[in-house]
Amino acid sequence: MAGHDYRSWGRYPAATPAEVHRPVTREHAIAGRASSMLAYGNGRSYGDSCLNHDGTLLAMRSLDRFIAFDPASGLLECEAGVLLGDILALVIPQGWFLPVTPGTQFVSVGGAIANDVHGKNHHRAGTFGRHVRSLELCRSDGSHLVCTPDDNADWFAATVGGLGLTGAITRASIALRRIQGAFMDVESRRFGHLDDFFALSAESNDDYEYTVAWVDCTARGTRLGRGWFMRANHRPALGQSPDPGRRSGPTFPFVTPVSMINRFTLKPLNTLYYYRSIKNRSRTNQHYQPFFYPLDGIAHWNRAYGPRGFVQYQCVVPHDDGRAAITELLDRIAAANAGSFLSVLKIFGDVPSPGMLSFPRPGVTLALDFPNPGPRTFALLDALDQVVMAAGGAVYPAKDARMSAAAFDRYFPDWRAFCAYVDPAFNSDFWRRVTDHDTDPNQDRPT
Ligand SMILES: Cc1cc2nc3c(=O)[nH]c(=O)nc-3n(C[C@H](O)[C@H](O)[C@H](O)COP(=O)(O)OP(=O)(O)OC[C@H]3O[C@@H](n4cnc5c(N)ncnc54)[C@H](O)[C@@H]3O)c2cc1C
Repeated sequence: MAGHDYRSWGRYPAATPAEVHRPVTREHAIAGRASSMLAYGNGRSYGDSCLNHDGTLLAMRSLDRFIAFDPASGLLECEAGVLLGDILALVIPQGWFLPVTPGTQFVSVGGAIANDVHGKNHHRAGTFGRHVRSLELCRSDGSHLVCTPDDNADWFAATVGGLGLTGAITRASIALRRIQGAFMDVESRRFGHLDDFFALSAESNDDYEYTVAWVDCTARGTRLGRGWFMRANHRPALGQSPDPGRRSGPTFPFVTPVSMINRFTLKPLNTLYYYRSIKNRSRTNQHYQPFFYPLDGIAHWNRAYGPRGFVQYQCVVPHDDGRAAITELLDRIAAANAGSFLSVLKIFGDVPSPGMLSFPRPGVTLALDFPNPGPRTFALLDALDQVVMAAGGAVYPAKDARMSAAAFDRYFPDWRAFCAYVDPAFNSDFWRRVTDHDTDPNQDRPT
């Protein structure tokens, strides 16, 4: 970890911890620390939920040991700093896979639990927390609570999706999912309008374990919401080539002086991707890595957004108003000539999330990056918040760097009950921002 700068993935906002503590043993994970601590996993949160300016960061990656794995039942027990990619390397050859994985494998088990992450199979499997059978929580009063959905169940519910605020998770056991091999049967379909996305999602729900869509966020009018729909299942093992192992692709070498994704490159990039193939439909036998982790192929791709970094906006809106709300969001983003090359749409299913503050809920989720945070971007995102609030939806804290305390209150009304479980010695930049109802959300924003 030498030279690690402990930023978040969006490189915005800047924050400097006063101290970084790397625990060596689970028993002494937070020993001797007095106040304002926060566990830091692998910094794959986009905004400030993993930052603790002027406080202590507990660099949990140092707790990265496997404890037990039962190849008969698929139950894995490990320390919280183990990366999801390391789990896959261990268990795939034995016929097992993560029950849920986000779009990068460089996420720690502790980070996956604290944000109760979701994947392309949410409509079937729910969130990561659904598959956690137990976790150990280390509190600043010296206690070590073992929490399961049945024992210390309230602490379990507070810690899953609890944004690292209930204490440090030191170990967890996770129920894995059986597979026969490392390859996926993937179908990609070009679609011309948002309505087609809803039709393809409905049609794919029962037959495909994984579904996700890329959308051209610059398209408007009759083309609004056009994109590519991907659906996939794990392949049976027969006829597969050997697992090529983890790819080590190119590295983005430096932070570009200005963002390479900007109002001039946005439309051509999206249009090019939409017309990337002359065929409207393709079916491929694909290794799991490019399917689940296309962005992991280029290390440090976040540097392409320049020194001012970027913010991500991921929201979910309930099904009732979902189509109208997503239409309005996409329309506003395209009209502002803003948004990203990486715009993702997905249907969340109705498998309940186990966490008090978990983000996923039934509905439609849209995620986009916005380069160069500045007043125009923040004004647009505040306007998007109004649409999401009116629809009864929520914005994802793991991706957030700017939502107001009032918006958080609307999105996560259970946060006041959750406060009873917050460790008094733990805090984060995100938490200070969204629970400070006297602060003007614009005061620290760049001009
Ligand atoms: C390319 C990319 C794609 C992504 N795709 C998805 C996606 O599809 N779905 C999704 O849900 N998310 C996605 N994410 C977000 C990412 O999965 C989450 O932000 C995840 O929580 C990051 O884990 P981390 O280990 O890097 O933790 P960090 O970002 O370092 O921390 C995240 C939170 O976990 C807490 N934490 C970390 N370790 C511990 C611990 N041991 N004990 C207690 N608290 C802890 C921190 O305090 C913080 O609140 C994506 C991120 C990237 C960069």
